[in-house]
Formats: sequence, structure tokens, C-alpha cells
Amino acid sequence: MHRLGMDPGDIAVVFLTHFHGDHTLGLPPFVLHRVFVDRRPLTFVGPTGIDEHLEKLWEVSWGPDWQRVMRPQFKVKYLTAKASGTISGVRYETVKLDHGTMGGNGYRIHLDGKVVAYSGDTEPTAPLDKLVEDADVAIVEATGPGDVFSHTSWEAATRLRKRHPDTRFFFNHVYSGKLAGAVKDLQVIEV
Ligand SMILES: [Zn+2]
Ligand SMILES: [Zn+2]
Repeated sequence: MHRLGMDPGDIAVVFLTHFHGDHTLGLPPFVLHRVFVDRRPLTFVGPTGIDEHLEKLWEVSWGPDWQRVMRPQFKVKYLTAKASGTISGVRYETVKLDHGTMGGNGYRIHLDGKVVAYSGDTEPTAPLDKLVEDADVAIVEATGPGDVFSHTSWEAATRLRKRHPDTRFFFNHVYSGKLAGAVKDLQVIEV
């Protein structure tokens, strides 16, 4: 974030799609910043159980010092995502997606009259089409070619994009290789 000229302290809300490690283990350094450098309030929105999952992750990260020293300085709120709601002035809708045993939340975030759809991890089932329908921007996972258990394949992602020609697609979660439309590291887009 610093490299992009962004202040991590400006972030008021973090939306979590699900609790798999590749989607949550980047959070501890961010939390460290919010405990010791910038103590503005922070809200996490996510699936049911978000408070236990994340508090457990902070405990694992810092051991007893989390409760003793850090937790009292952390101005955090954990909210279970509703079907739709407004948080810090941002309207969102949640779409339940198919992803292994855990499932996941996709979000439609309304920003200045535009809609950004974000999938997290999902199979390319009907709810994914519902998530991206009429969105201005869709950030959707496209894990790899062929058979990708509980995920969206490159082929399915490409078909999804064809079904929604007026939406700008950005593919992430690519495990290796090159896919047309894949995001680049530290990419910034105008919505
Ligand atoms: Zn996952
Ligand atoms: Zn993942």
C-alpha cells in the first residue's frame, strides 16, 4: 500500500469472502499497523463466525501478548455480512457462492454510482452470474486451466466474461501460468 501511495490507516472497512488461509494470512501485518501506528477504528465484514476466526488468527500470530497488550488498543468491530447493508457510507449486497465445504460470500460494492463485484473463491455456478450481473467491474477468481476443485477454471471464467459483455473483468487467484485479463501485482484501476 505504501508503494502505491496509499495510507493503510485510511481503510475503514475490510470485506472477507471466507476464512481460507490464502485469503486471511496477509491480515496480521495490517492489524499490527492498526494497533501500533494508526489507531483509527476498523470494521471487518464477513461470513458468520468472523469474530472467532479472526480473533483466533490474532492469538496464533502474537500469543499471549495479543490479549495482554495489543487487543485493548485495537478499535475493531466484526460484523456478519447481511444480504444487503451499508457500512461506513458504502452500500453492499452479499451473494452466497459455492466454494467447497466452507462456501463463500461474494460482494457487490456500490461506489459513486458504480458497482464492483468481488467473488473471492467460487465454483462457476449460477450465483456467480448473479454476482456479476450488470456490474461495472467484476474481480473474479480464475484459478487455473481444466479441472480446478471448488474453483473457477480459466475456461469457465472466459465463458462468464462472454455472458456479461458490458462488465469489465479482472481475474485473480491465478495459481500459475498466463491468462488474458489476469490482474497484475499492485494494479490500480479507475472505476
Ligand atoms: Zn478458498
Ligand atoms: Zn483461495
